[in-house]
Amino acid sequence: MTLDPKADKAKTQDISISWHDISADEVLSSLETEIHSGLTSEEAARRLEKFGPNQLQEKPRPTFLKMVIDQLNNFLVILLIVAAVISAILGDYVEAIAIMSIVVLNAVLGVVQESRAEEALAALKKLAAPDAQVLRDGHRVSVPAPQLVPGDIVFLEAGNFIPADLRLLEAVNLRVEEAALTGESVPVQKNAAAVLDKDIPLGDRKNTAFMGTTVNYGRGRGVVVSTGMRTQLGLIADMLQSVEEEETPLQRRLDDLGKVLGWGSLAICGLVFIVGLIRTDFSFAAITEMFMIAVSLAIAAVPEGLPAVVTISLALGMREMVRRHALIRKLASVETLGSATVICSDKTGTLTQNEMTVTRIWAEDKIFEVTGSGYSTKGEIRLDGKPVSAKDYPALLDTLWVGALNNDAELEVLEQNGSTTYRMVGDPTEGSILVAAAKAGYYSADLRNSYPRQNEIPFDSVRKRMVTIHAVERPLPEDNIVLSDNQHRTWYAIAVKGAPDVVLNLCTQMETGANQIVPLDDAQRRKVLAANDLMTKDALRVLGLAYRLVPVIPSEVESNALEKDLVFVGLVGMIDPARVEVKPALTKARTAGIRTIMITGDYPNTARAVAEDIGLLRPGHQVLTGAQLNEMDDERLRQEVKVTDAFARVSPEHKMRIVDALRANDEIVAMTGDGVNDAPAIKLADIGVAMGITGTDVAKETADMVLTDDNYASIVSAIEQGRIIYNNIRKFVFFLLSSNVAEIMIIFLSTLAGLPTPLTAIQLLMLNLLTDGAPALALAMEKGDPDVMQRPPRPKKESIINGSMQLGILVQTIAQTGAVLTAFGVGLYWSAQAAGLDTGDSFWRFLFSFDWKSIDYQTAETMAFVTLSMCELFRAYTVRSERASLFTIGVFSNKWMQYAVGLSIVLLLLVTTVPFLQPIFNTHSMSAAEWGLVLGLGILPAIAEEITKFFLRANDRKHLHTV
Ligand code: ADP
Ligand code: MG
Repeated sequence: MTLDPKADKAKTQDISISWHDISADEVLSSLETEIHSGLTSEEAARRLEKFGPNQLQEKPRPTFLKMVIDQLNNFLVILLIVAAVISAILGDYVEAIAIMSIVVLNAVLGVVQESRAEEALAALKKLAAPDAQVLRDGHRVSVPAPQLVPGDIVFLEAGNFIPADLRLLEAVNLRVEEAALTGESVPVQKNAAAVLDKDIPLGDRKNTAFMGTTVNYGRGRGVVVSTGMRTQLGLIADMLQSVEEEETPLQRRLDDLGKVLGWGSLAICGLVFIVGLIRTDFSFAAITEMFMIAVSLAIAAVPEGLPAVVTISLALGMREMVRRHALIRKLASVETLGSATVICSDKTGTLTQNEMTVTRIWAEDKIFEVTGSGYSTKGEIRLDGKPVSAKDYPALLDTLWVGALNNDAELEVLEQNGSTTYRMVGDPTEGSILVAAAKAGYYSADLRNSYPRQNEIPFDSVRKRMVTIHAVERPLPEDNIVLSDNQHRTWYAIAVKGAPDVVLNLCTQMETGANQIVPLDDAQRRKVLAANDLMTKDALRVLGLAYRLVPVIPSEVESNALEKDLVFVGLVGMIDPARVEVKPALTKARTAGIRTIMITGDYPNTARAVAEDIGLLRPGHQVLTGAQLNEMDDERLRQEVKVTDAFARVSPEHKMRIVDALRANDEIVAMTGDGVNDAPAIKLADIGVAMGITGTDVAKETADMVLTDDNYASIVSAIEQGRIIYNNIRKFVFFLLSSNVAEIMIIFLSTLAGLPTPLTAIQLLMLNLLTDGAPALALAMEKGDPDVMQRPPRPKKESIINGSMQLGILVQTIAQTGAVLTAFGVGLYWSAQAAGLDTGDSFWRFLFSFDWKSIDYQTAETMAFVTLSMCELFRAYTVRSERASLFTIGVFSNKWMQYAVGLSIVLLLLVTTVPFLQPIFNTHSMSAAEWGLVLGLGILPAIAEEITKFFLRANDRKHLHTV
């Protein structure tokens, strides 16, 4: 069998074909693709059809059967099945069947809820899949990685995930971290030109980049050779798919709570059992009866609906956040978000629009104004208000040329109805310089043809600069240098662009107005820095530009050899207007007790001007620089960070220290970032936030949350949503738990008093699953209290069942137990009267002394059951806010609650009035007087709740006054 790829023109993805032992040209031709235009969209579609999506096969979703078995595999369900069997043995077939159908219903509901939650999570994962930069039909476009096909030409830059297996065509200082595949954590330097031995191990294939690894540095281009399961990663993918979805801290705490409740109820069971046995004989009937009571208790204690409702509400919350441009990557972050106390936000692009426009250029000691806005090339360059031609100002011209050449952005030509317009593709900072050059009549495409790039050191936010080398037929600037030997020899221009002081430090000469290059003395330096100062104070982002001509390219393309003896040419200043949503969002965050700290690589002046403009800098607070930060020890930084609203001139490693200091001050920190170097800080922060548009794959992969619009305001709105979700969870936890505790008390107290058990197992199941379950789900849909963003952040360590909830549970247990036992007691009394028993003159004496086995007390049981149901349904409304009165939030403002309560009432009426359902649910028709009593008693806990809230509010106000 031949392994020569050329043998098969059908672009096979046979994995036995190797691509690293042939030249790039051979690879391209055998894949029938073209390096400058890529595939056509039709061909790409055809190949996608043929090879399938570029995805690793997902672990199959749990099957329906497996989910059902999971549902059954739980203590309570087993208990219920035993109870059903015992009922059947005792001949109570109706009860047995009823219990079994509840088991089935519970399992079905559980499965439906679980698969809903799974679906929501899977959809979210899909949203988070990275895009790849690809050539299609001759254009550079962004394509979701799953749609890549063999033959696609893919662009790579620092921070990218390698989206498929690629044979490299171009690798400029390209370093790839391949730990995911080879375990080797030191990045591998790639080399596109190499043709390697066939049997060389993966880790040494320098001309190939593998799916799932990441670009650590540099840039490059490659052609897709295999996709999906046929990639090297696909071959070992089975190993990677065993990562389990973790439970969130909240879910874990609720699980623990469930266990506590379980043990508690077991203890009470034991107690009831003993008390019951002491009171009765040790007959089989007595023992089975006690067992059924124990079953009831266990059912009463376990909040069956809770885990599902929690998962659903977290998943729904995540979906709501996506709508608000925040993609949550971990369920747990939804909770953390709600307790955030500090947002550290990048300035450029997050607080500002990142739509840069060069408005000023400083060169040869003159300030030129540039008109126009955005990336439109309409506009001109002016001096003292009059349009000028760049040709007349050599240093200005060189500033524009160096800026346009040392540049990875592009102005794409769009021909529309006969007129030519341009679209900026790439980094806005760079794009703005291209636009400025275009306004002077110099287009980057022409410049790049005349001065082709030979090599480069890519931009790096630690070095704060970037270097490119260009071939120059005639030395730059045009007529500036008198060549000594050969007039036609090719020279090379080393172009540098970066933070002004950084660039200035590398310069020893400077271009002046008189078409001259002079030594850069201190006076000159001061001039440049003064110009920089002036521009930054006007909130401009400023870059410095410099170059040097050399006859040969230094053999080592690295900083020491290239970045010396540079000639300074000029400064460009660009505005980046604040996003309009930012001001209101900042205010909102502030009223919610959340600080915002601006972080930027720009100058302190620029940072200050922008911070003041958007109202971020508070009186008495300061702007710190990275250099000042270096001077401080951690202890000092912890103090300073309290009064620092903006950090300027920072590098990514400073971000780590800032997060550290804030966390040491017990803050819960959200930190934004986009680059590879930001990943450690993103990881360290409580909530790592990556930019969805400008962020690298590495940053996104590390982050807990990805902003799909890169907007600060979306962080604030995600925090708001996080608070709402957490509060909603609190509401239904409170709602469900207090009814569970009340149920336990009702059964416990009545058994202790020697009364019959007022609530049967089936009634309890119906209460917990439907009567409580439906409103609990509706609580998960609450839109949030009006004051969610007016209260301080919740302390992170605070237990979900905090002081006020404990109080609430206490009040509710007393109110509900009281109401239900009253209904039950009165019901028994009335039943006895109806049965013609002599009730004597004392209600109490009668109640505790008569032989209730002698009468039919089903009506009393029904009254207890309906009372408790009504308690829950009335209370479902007031529990919708923890503090605000029901009338403030509006009785009918959650339409889901109407559906849920409506459904529960219909079911309640059905099981209490429909003759053939009555025996199953152990109910009996009630008279008008009985209905009147249970309704009256049923509303009491809701009233108690409103009174509790009133006191909580009063306490709040007292607190506010004392603070
Ligand atoms: P920020 O973009 O928030 O200012 P960065 O870490 O991205 O922070 O950049 C650090 C500094 O490097 C910037 O303040 C600027 O002076 C300089 N810089 C930014 N982008 C470029 C670029 N494309 N080329 C050269 N220098 C740049
Ligand atoms: Mg930047």
